[in-house]
Amino acid sequence: MAIPGNGGDRLILGMAGGGDFRVIAAQTAESLELARLRCDLSPVAAAALGRALTSAVLLARLLDKQVPEQHVSLRLEGGGPIGGVIAEATIDGRIRGCVGNPQYEDTACDVGLAVGSGGNLTVIRKSPPLMKPYTSQVRLVSGEIAKDVAHYLATSEQIPTAVLLGVLNRPTGVASCGGIVIQAFPHTTPAEIEAMEKAILDAPPLSSLLAELPIHDAVARVLGPVGYKQLDPSFDIPISYHCTCSREKALRMYRYFPPQELGEMIREASDTEAVCHFCGAKYVFTADDLLGLDVGEGN
Ligand SMILES: [Zn+2]
Repeated sequence: MAIPGNGGDRLILGMAGGGDFRVIAAQTAESLELARLRCDLSPVAAAALGRALTSAVLLARLLDKQVPEQHVSLRLEGGGPIGGVIAEATIDGRIRGCVGNPQYEDTACDVGLAVGSGGNLTVIRKSPPLMKPYTSQVRLVSGEIAKDVAHYLATSEQIPTAVLLGVLNRPTGVASCGGIVIQAFPHTTPAEIEAMEKAILDAPPLSSLLAELPIHDAVARVLGPVGYKQLDPSFDIPISYHCTCSREKALRMYRYFPPQELGEMIREASDTEAVCHFCGAKYVFTADDLLGLDVGEGN
């Protein structure tokens, strides 16, 4: 379903160190706030999902295969109390995601503990027309997501990359959400990498910067000491929270119910409600709807 109301989120591109580093950054606060409201996310669930959504859209751009509809899906299964985290993004900036246990509360808002580090990060890429999935998986190293995504890029993709992610929650909602990936090129020298690492360490937390500044100014602030140049804003990609669910797709899911259970639902003749985990959309089906599916699908 199309979701109105997000406009300021974007992905920007730049270079740092006079061309020694490629920079991709994204601001995703409005999309995350929309997900928070629709899926009733606790602060720590919002923090985890915001980091994952930002990673997904940054990865979609970083692993660009020049395919407009390239789709990247990130799955974090760390065994923590928040459950699994799924984030999906297309290269043209459509994102959506969900959390297994969205109401899990943690006053310390510790994403690493909430996600857990006892499992895997799986990245699935699909490109049209075949949409054949290309899957790669690494062990989680921290559950905090930024380190995990950097580890994935270093081991699975052989791309040495720094990943910064930040989400700031306030009692009123999401105050900031975004991230930066900084990729060193093969010609980049160890001294230049050291200078970049120092600039990152010295910078204020990204979540605080993004609460005050738009993404291009926040990136310039972090990378200013090593020289940062944003590419022309015409290369910006607007980001929006977009769910691909529909009433038809939701109804088709009942095909996978055990026939006995489906038969009981039809006999009870009461309405059945399906809720989309990605956007909170509710679809109500009558017994006739389910019966039509049953006959139509030949179950
Ligand atoms: Zn949906």
